[in-house]
Amino acid sequence: MAAENSIGRERIQLYDTTLRDGAQTTGVDFSLADKLAVMKMLDRLGIDVIEGGYPGANPLDTQLFSQKHPIRTKLSCFGMTKRAGVSASNDPGVAALLQAEADIVCYVAKAWDFHVRTALGCTLDENLDGVRESVAAALARGREAIVDCEHFFDGYKANPAYAVDVARAAHEAGAGWVVLCDTNGGTLPDEVECNVAAVIAAVPGIRLGIHAHDDTGHAIANSLAAVRAGARQIQGTLNGLGERCGNANLVTLIPTLKLKEPYASRFETGVSDEAMAGLTQLSRAFDELLNRQPNRQAPYVGASAFATKAGIHASAVLKDPRTYEHVEPQRVGNSRAVLVSTQAGRSNVLAELERLGISAPRNDQRIARLLEEVKDREAVGYAYEGADASFYVLAQRVLGRAREYFRVERFKVNVERRYNANGQLVTFSEATVKVNIDGETMISAAEGDGPVNALDRALRKDLGKYQRLIEGISLVDFKVRIFQGGTDAVTRVLIESRDETGDSWTTVGVSANIIDASFQALTDSIVYKLMRGEEADARSPGAGAVSLIL
Ligand SMILES: [Zn+2]
Repeated sequence: MAAENSIGRERIQLYDTTLRDGAQTTGVDFSLADKLAVMKMLDRLGIDVIEGGYPGANPLDTQLFSQKHPIRTKLSCFGMTKRAGVSASNDPGVAALLQAEADIVCYVAKAWDFHVRTALGCTLDENLDGVRESVAAALARGREAIVDCEHFFDGYKANPAYAVDVARAAHEAGAGWVVLCDTNGGTLPDEVECNVAAVIAAVPGIRLGIHAHDDTGHAIANSLAAVRAGARQIQGTLNGLGERCGNANLVTLIPTLKLKEPYASRFETGVSDEAMAGLTQLSRAFDELLNRQPNRQAPYVGASAFATKAGIHASAVLKDPRTYEHVEPQRVGNSRAVLVSTQAGRSNVLAELERLGISAPRNDQRIARLLEEVKDREAVGYAYEGADASFYVLAQRVLGRAREYFRVERFKVNVERRYNANGQLVTFSEATVKVNIDGETMISAAEGDGPVNALDRALRKDLGKYQRLIEGISLVDFKVRIFQGGTDAVTRVLIESRDETGDSWTTVGVSANIIDASFQALTDSIVYKLMRGEEADARSPGAGAVSLIL
């Protein structure tokens, strides 16, 4: 736990909506596996609430909420308050929310009279009834209720009394939090601060949250303005994901709340100092999951955030980092870019080893070698932030703790496109792999939906004595990025694998050739599973290999 003195500090609740509002981002399409991976990241970070999605609105979210998940963070489901003209118990939307396996139901309610009349087509009172009855239904079902007041700030401008009535109705019905949303993202900080203060004055005892969008570049400033005025819940997303210009970026907000005054002295969050030291890694791993290039200029966590170009700044930073740095980069897990191959990089590697449970003496010479190896590989396109398992395999190799389970002597992949007997155009892929295990050679061949699938099947078809240990592996996700490295195009492949216990891990391969890059990621995945299996075996001596596949 963080060494934090919580005396006198007020708690700010962090509510993540990456999987709901963030999923509205153009080009973002979470799979169920993606959502589960993001939930794990947020849980580790110490976020208070995860909004997982919109059950009933799409099959994926309904599936997500069909079971409980092994996370400490509270899970919230999102949907509309009941429609006018039906009771909450007869509203299918509300029913889907109440059936969801979630701790919290977050209702979105219209707070702008113009929207109530035009979009909902009901009376202002019917809308208030909808808020009250929907909240009551959630509480009756044993859930906590939150009400997001959509378009609150625009609504407040148009009809302040009604906007406040909506917030009051939610509070009086028993909503734990009433969240003021700047849905169109056009409100500026001063106005947010005034309006939040006005609601608190008008509705004694109300607990307010803020949901800000970044359309004027003020989502962070608006969130902080709301906190100054008395809001104690902040809704946001990882890396500021979200529709249009995005939502308030929690990756920026967390260090600001924890490191900057007056927030640092007045407030605390559920994010420990240790968890914040993993923020850079988390932010980049999340971009890898989205298959997009991390923003180099992202505050705190960007590759350029603490990079100083050689010259007068760099020499001053070398004398004393405080000359050009507003916070210490290691507090957020970032590093000073000017000090290549010094303590900064080394401490990152040490932190990574610790996170992955690899013990290594701090002064071990091999740590320096590992750092060099990582740098060399990153220079040619490897990215380990999103590929823990490949880093793990590499680290164990450099530390001299990996043995060669098998050696692939050669592989061959054929892709054939032709007309079949029925005159249909078909594509066949088949792969052959020659593997050497302790001097014994095995040849396997397999067909697949595509060349990588065929190669994967052939590789895992027969690994002799290890076969039982890898049988439960399945490929969950496969991501390819092609970028310009130096003068040539480089292909980076990220593969996510899962085993029979539900554990998942990601590996990376880089090559000019997509099949070769995939091959590296596939073999890393298998080696990782074998290494982890041996560790588990060592922890329970006598259980033998059988314990590894349970
Ligand atoms: Zn929103």
